[in-house]
Amino acid sequence: MSEAFVTEAPSGRRRAARPAAPAVIGQRREVPFFNYPALFAEHRDEYLATITEVLERGAYIMQRDLTAFEEELAAYLGVRHAVGVADGTIALKIALKLSGVGPGYEVILPSHTFIATAAAVHDVGAEPVLCDCGPDSMMDVDSARALVTKNTCAIMPVQLNGRTCDMAAVQALADEFGLKIVEDSCQAMGAKFRGRFAGTFGAAGAFSFYPAKTLGCFGDGGGLILDDDDLAAKARELRDHGRGADGLVHRFGVNGRLDNLQAAVLRLKLARYDESIARRRAIARVYDERLSGLDGLQLPPGPDADPDRFDIFQNYEVQSDRRDALRAFLADRGVGTIVQWGGSMIHQFTDLGLRARAPYAEAMSRRYLMLPMHPMLSDDDVAYVCDQVEAFHHG
Ligand SMILES: *Cc1c(COP(=O)(O)O)cnc(C)c1O
Repeated sequence: MSEAFVTEAPSGRRRAARPAAPAVIGQRREVPFFNYPALFAEHRDEYLATITEVLERGAYIMQRDLTAFEEELAAYLGVRHAVGVADGTIALKIALKLSGVGPGYEVILPSHTFIATAAAVHDVGAEPVLCDCGPDSMMDVDSARALVTKNTCAIMPVQLNGRTCDMAAVQALADEFGLKIVEDSCQAMGAKFRGRFAGTFGAAGAFSFYPAKTLGCFGDGGGLILDDDDLAAKARELRDHGRGADGLVHRFGVNGRLDNLQAAVLRLKLARYDESIARRRAIARVYDERLSGLDGLQLPPGPDADPDRFDIFQNYEVQSDRRDALRAFLADRGVGTIVQWGGSMIHQFTDLGLRARAPYAEAMSRRYLMLPMHPMLSDDDVAYVCDQVEAFHHG
């Protein structure tokens, strides 16, 4: 999910109604990839009441709403500490710093990820080293192993689309070479591997509360989760100019605080989080039942397919032999789709000068496509998307 590729349509804009083309099954609908206005409209009165109350209290920065959100988030994920920060990328940078990553070190991460994963490594002064993906579209641990050098200090599994990597394999690699695990869990808050939450495998886990993320606020936001009391205190300092609870500056930090107003909104969203994940999983179940077996279309594992994992379906990413044609067909019928990160692996942004041997990821990047997946979709929306995908394959 990236700002550059998830564009916010001006609210209220609608395509002019036009007569249904002959191949459209059922009545034409508009199913945007993500419905930004609906994010607010769903519980408008409650949001407005909360926002007004916070503003009237004059509670803008580091107030009780932030503290309450942090406590509730920690309780939800069963960790000792949660720290609200300005965005997911800052969460990643702080997690890297807390894990001892800095100049002179290399960090291995998959080339198929949002640029923020690599940028966070670069920003703390270390070198991002890019590995390939495996058939599960996530970090290929064998390809990561081949890149370990004496300078490698950490690996960054990216928990993509709301599903975790094979964390047993990642852990084994980390143990083999004494590497730190720094998870990019920005797409996977609440996802589990063998009962363990994404974000709890390293010293600190990073989440993003970008609007289109599963726990999305009305702007930028991010969070860190940690169990270690000292590291949590350090994280709180790093996000607030290095200032400690005593008001003194103990280290150089950044202005990386989560807005109190966003924290107040996130409290409301967190209270309904299980419900929204259940809805995402129900939609995934319908996609799985209706779209499996179509020629040339590969679906992600269904919500009940893998006893080792609990997936939260941040995205529903399919792979298609005829991706671009499918995308155009759906667009023509009002269904919005996105090619994640514009279809580019990080090493394909050649201006960055990062190289990688990632043949699997490159092949996959020509095939993957994300269908609409968010809790505001109605059953009719989902059925309509399925109708159109079927029509493409049968027509
Ligand atoms: C969303 C996301 C981030 C962080 O994004 P922010 O916009 O900084 O909150 C990092 N990594 C991945 C994989 C993401 O999807």
